[in-house]
Amino acid sequence: MNSTSQSVDLEQVRAYISEQLAPLVKDIDCKGLYPREFLHGLGRLNGFAAVAPLEYGGLGASLADQIEVTAAVSETCGSTGFVVWCQAACVWYLTHCPNEAARARYLPAVARGELLAGTGMSNTVKHLSNIEAIRLKARREGDGYRIEGVLPWVSNLAENQLIIVAAALDEGGYLMFAAELDPAQIELRACPTFAGLEGTHTFNVRFRNTRVDADQVLAHPEQFAAHMSRIRPGFCLSQIGIGAGIVRTSVESIKRINRSLEHVNCFLDDQHDELEQTLAELLEQTHTQSRLADEDATDILQVLRLRARIAELSLDATRSEALHTGARGYLMNHGAQRRQREALFVAIVTPALKHLRKDIQALEAAS
Ligand SMILES: Cc1cc2nc3c(=O)[nH]c(=O)nc-3n(C[C@H](O)[C@H](O)[C@H](O)COP(=O)(O)OP(=O)(O)OC[C@H]3O[C@@H](n4cnc5c(N)ncnc54)[C@H](O)[C@@H]3O)c2cc1C
Repeated sequence: MNSTSQSVDLEQVRAYISEQLAPLVKDIDCKGLYPREFLHGLGRLNGFAAVAPLEYGGLGASLADQIEVTAAVSETCGSTGFVVWCQAACVWYLTHCPNEAARARYLPAVARGELLAGTGMSNTVKHLSNIEAIRLKARREGDGYRIEGVLPWVSNLAENQLIIVAAALDEGGYLMFAAELDPAQIELRACPTFAGLEGTHTFNVRFRNTRVDADQVLAHPEQFAAHMSRIRPGFCLSQIGIGAGIVRTSVESIKRINRSLEHVNCFLDDQHDELEQTLAELLEQTHTQSRLADEDATDILQVLRLRARIAELSLDATRSEALHTGARGYLMNHGAQRRQREALFVAIVTPALKHLRKDIQALEAAS
C-alpha cells in the first residue's frame, strides 16, 4: 500500500449489496441467475480495484481491503462472493505479472469490472501439487503460442469476456495467459447441474488451436515459477473472504433464533460466541498475512493453515446454524440451507481442504 493509496468505501458497497444483490439471492440460488449487472456496478464502486495500482485505475490499497469487499458480498450471497473472488483474483494476477504489455491491455478494464474475468487455475494449482495432470497444452508460434485442451469447469465466464489460465509448453515449462472468449477460438459448454453455485456462469472451456499473442501472456516459461510463487498467497488468502462472509451470517442467524430458543440451543456444539471469536482471530491473522502478501513477504505455511481453517469454520458454522434453527432452518427457503451448500464449496474449491492438508503436511515435513 503506497502513501497515496485510496480505500474502498465499504459503507457504500454494503448499501449497494442490500439494494441490488439481496433481492436476487433466491433466483441466484434456485434459478441459476448470474448477477452480471450487479458485478459491473460493484466494479464502478471499486469493488475489484483494491490491489490494482493507481496508474491502472486501481486504489493502490491492500489485499486486506479486497477481502473485506468479498466478505461483505458473501454475507448476503456466498455464490456471488465466489464470483467476486474470481474477478479480484484476476486483478491480483495482472497486478503482479512480470509483463507490462498484458497488464496494460487488461488490468484497467478488469479492475473496473467492465471486462468480466474468470480464473481457470484450479487444474494448474492441483497439477503443481502433484494431484492431477495438466489439461492445457501449448506450442510456440512466433512471439506467441497456440493452445489446445479442455478445462472442465471455470466460473464468471461470458462470451467476449476474459479467462486467465496456464498451459504446459510442448518443449517444457508452463505459461500463464489471458484470452478473450471469442466463440470462434474458445468454446464454452454448459456444465451438468451443480448442487449450489449455479449462478456463477460456470462452463466447460474448450481451447482449439487458440492463438495467444505476446501481450496476452502474463508469464512466459522462464517467468512462470516466480509468478506462481508471487500470486499463490493472495490466491488463497482472498478466498478467506468468501468463508468469512458466510460464517458472519450464520452467527447472526444463530443469535436471532436464540432469542427464543437459547434454553435448548445451549446444548449444541459451536456456539455463536466461540464461532465469532475464532473468526475474529482468523481474520486478524488473515489481514496481517494479506499486508505481507502485498509486499511478497508472507509465511506460506501460515497462509495455507488460515485457508484450511476457514474451510473448516465455514462447515462448522453453517452446520451449527442448521442445528440451531431446527425445522425452520430445514425449510428450503431458509438461508441456512443455501449457506450449507456454499460453505461446502469453500471446502472443495481449489485449494480444497484435502489439497491444503496435503500441501501443509509436505511443508511441515520439509521444515
Ligand atoms: C461450481 C464449481 C465452480 C468451479 N469454478 C472453478 C473456476 O472458476 N476455476 C477453476 O479453475 N476451477 C473451478 N472449479 C473446480 C474446482 O476448483 C475443483 O478443482 C474441482 O471441483 C475438482 O476438485 P476435486 O477436489 O473434486 O478433484 P479431485 O477429487 O482431485 O478429482 C480428481 C479429478 O477428477 C475430475 N472429475 C471428477 N468428476 C468429474 C466430472 N464429473 N467431470 C469432469 N471431471 C471430473 C476432476 O476435475 C479432477 O481432475 C469449480 C468447481 C465447481 C464445482
